[in-house]
Amino acid sequence: MRAPPGAEPPALAPAAATARALLAWYTHAGRRLPWRAVPGGPLPDPYGVLVSEFMLQQTRVETVRAPWARWMARWPDFSSLANATLDAVLAQWTGLGYYARARHLHRLAQTVVRDHGGALPRAQAALAALPGLGPYTQGALRSVAFGEPAALVDGNVARVLARWHAVQVDVRQGAGRRAVWAAAQAWMDVPEASAHPGDWNQALMELGAVVCVPGAPRCGACPVAAACRAHAEGRELDLPVRVRPPAPRVVAACYAVLTRTVATADADSGDQEVLVGQRPAQGRWAGLWEPPGCEGPDAHDRLHAWLGAAGCDSPRALGSLVHVLTHRRYEVQGWAAAAGSADLACLGYVAQRWMPVAAALGITAGLSKLGQRLVELAAAPAPSPRPARARATPAEKG
Ligand code: SF4
Repeated sequence: MRAPPGAEPPALAPAAATARALLAWYTHAGRRLPWRAVPGGPLPDPYGVLVSEFMLQQTRVETVRAPWARWMARWPDFSSLANATLDAVLAQWTGLGYYARARHLHRLAQTVVRDHGGALPRAQAALAALPGLGPYTQGALRSVAFGEPAALVDGNVARVLARWHAVQVDVRQGAGRRAVWAAAQAWMDVPEASAHPGDWNQALMELGAVVCVPGAPRCGACPVAAACRAHAEGRELDLPVRVRPPAPRVVAACYAVLTRTVATADADSGDQEVLVGQRPAQGRWAGLWEPPGCEGPDAHDRLHAWLGAAGCDSPRALGSLVHVLTHRRYEVQGWAAAAGSADLACLGYVAQRWMPVAAALGITAGLSKLGQRLVELAAAPAPSPRPARARATPAEKG
């Protein structure tokens, strides 16, 4: 916290009154979510909390509701999840993105079953030793699931505390990150907060999600406005400080959607199948399936050499699409061809299979999002222009 040069800091509300105000607001206005306990009520199931926390990382609450319910119905505890295949877990995760979370959750379940008899350990050291649990998730489990006075900071909490305490540096980095963690811990030391640690942390997150939002904080509806330094100084829109991240790296990529028609009872039509390869267990999109492709400046030449070797002499250009990840912008050329067989091992895939096109576009296919977009692009009637959602440009000649 830092007051403007030469100015007396404004008088702010005492901590106890602020803590009571935030908790009362959360009890009254907090959203009721299936993985959340009622404020002041019994603690929720730690496994359900853990699954929700993994799903909610970089994903909106509304996107998580239905997948969380399906997941809990299929794998209601650590044992059932530990016994599932990684393929099934990745397929069930389709639509949530950031598949590393699914792999970490699966591995974590197996560790909990193997080392802790299928129950999440409560001890801080044991939790910290589990794979895939960072400081935020440890804080969420300890406070929300076990009722212990552990602080946490996620993106919403960081924004709230950056404004509340007028943190002057980027809270995503070094000193700023330490400042908001220190502020979170200081609030957890206030008795009113530490008596209800799960409710307190969820109230902070909820405040960031629905009131202290990024673009236009609703300070008039904020239960902690009387204690907020940024609000007192009229600097709500200046905080948190943002250092512009580097532009995503542009990566050229080239993919081929190979299809075949298999006989069905209806001799006039037949079913379309698409050839997909499974990516290795390490690296980007690890373990996911996709149409064969490669990336890099020579991606076009390498893919077409492979297509020639596979007997696909006249591939059809599908056009181009852009696929953006956090640090990479993929500029993808898509091609389509009919093929009876092709070996994907030389392109780096660890397994391959033919999959019905309709299944490949489903939410449990285990395809990467980019892979699904390519199959969708190939399945669209040619030569109609692609709908805006696919963000494809018309096919180039040649
Ligand atoms: S008063 Fe405004 S800026 Fe401060 S915490 Fe509340 S919503 Fe955020």
